[in-house]
This record gives sequence, C-alpha cells and structure tokens, in this order.
Amino acid sequence: MTIEQEVLQWLARLVLDGWITEEEAAEVFSAWDEDELELFFPGMIEQQDDNSTLVAAATLAGVIIGFKAETDGLVLQQVFSLGTRPEYPDALQDWWTQRTAFLANQLTSGTMAFQEFARLIDVELQTYLLSQHMGGYGGIRWNLLRPTVIEQRAYMQRFTDQIAWQVHQQSPYSNGYIANRLNLYGGAGRGEYYRGRIAQNIRNGLIGIRYIAVDDGVTCRPCSAAQGFYEPDAGYIPTPGSICLGGGHCRCRLEFVYAV
Ligand SMILES: [Zn+2]
Repeated sequence: MTIEQEVLQWLARLVLDGWITEEEAAEVFSAWDEDELELFFPGMIEQQDDNSTLVAAATLAGVIIGFKAETDGLVLQQVFSLGTRPEYPDALQDWWTQRTAFLANQLTSGTMAFQEFARLIDVELQTYLLSQHMGGYGGIRWNLLRPTVIEQRAYMQRFTDQIAWQVHQQSPYSNGYIANRLNLYGGAGRGEYYRGRIAQNIRNGLIGIRYIAVDDGVTCRPCSAAQGFYEPDAGYIPTPGSICLGGGHCRCRLEFVYAV
C-alpha cells in the first residue's frame, strides 16, 4: 500500500467515526497530495521504516482530532505553532478521555466486539502518543518517542488481556472501571509532550526547567515532590503526567527558562 492509500484509509475511518467531515478529509488529503506535509513534518518522509506510513497518517489524524473541539477550521500550517501553546497537551488529553470513554462504552454495551476494541485501542494509543510527541517536539524524533510507544503498548496489551480474562471468568469489569483505567494512559502522553519540548528547547539555549505542580488539593505526592528547578543536562528531569499518580488527570506543566 502506498502512503497515499494509507492516508486515505485513515481519513475514511475518521469520517465514518464522525470525527471529521468529508470536507475536512478532502482538505487534509489535498495538503498531503501537494507534498505540503514535508513542510510540517521535517524529516518524517525520509524516515522510511516499517511504521512510517501508519505514523504519518495517525499523527495527522491525531492532531486534527485533538484540536477539533478547540479550534474551528484548523489550518494545517498552524499545527506546529499550536504545539507550543500550553493548552496543546490538555486538549489532546481531553480527546483521549473522550475517546476511551466512548470505546469502553462500545465494548461493555456489546456494541463492539472485543477483538475490534483491542485493535482500535492499540491504534488510538499510538495516535495519541505520537500527537503529543509531535506537538512537543515540533516534528518526529523516533529515538525519543519509540521507547514510550513500545512500553505503553505493552501495558495496554496486558490490560486488554485482563479484560478478556475477566469476561472469560464471567465477572467482566464495569464500564466505569475500564474507562478509568484507559484514561490513565493519558498521563504518559502528557509526559511525551514535555519530553519533546525539553529536547526541542535544549537546542534553543535553554538554561533551566521549572516543574510547576498544579496545586489544587488533589495534587499527588510525586508531582508536589517534583516541584522545582532543573538544569537541562540534569540526568533526570521529571515530566508531568508520566510521574503523576493521577495519570490522565495531571495538569502540571513545565516552564522553560532561557539565557537572556
Ligand atoms: Zn501532576
């Protein structure tokens, strides 16, 4: 299958699922067709490994979906400038919450077969992580992203196995439980956004990183312990979401300090 065919398939699915309209799909595809995507995703096209075509389409789809609720008439050229906005990871997390709640409901109501659920949730997880990474990094850096994708997919696989096992044992998980568990993965995506931001900012004369915990009474211990200032070459820089016990609920952030 060519890249174009894969993109078309993705767009068709998004239209079917009601995430974008046919007009929006056509707009995305024409941008693709005109090779404009290379402008937005520098280096991506050269990265011709096994997953690159899926990634290209998934990422594009994820970014569009993530911002659909926030931004009317998204222009593709704005994607990367959107990525630097503080609400970018929040908007994608909201999308993840909404999407996983929907899928959990489809599964537990019997509307969607388990196999289809397991396949979709794996694809959506990758889409989500990639979108967070892209917004943070302003492109795709495989070496940075890949370990997280591998790790989180393995966790998700284990969870979907558990879901199947519970059904087999005739004590299936409740809809609320599955939705909550799936929502936790949102935190890993937030962490990926900030890891991307750090990597990108280090190139731009970054001298420090400040971890700001959201202080709202339910701030978890790891997040409040992480508050403070870190030098960019510190061996360990905590990232919001990935260290948070609240997973997908985390709204902590990093601030970047530059030399003047
Ligand atoms: Zn937090």
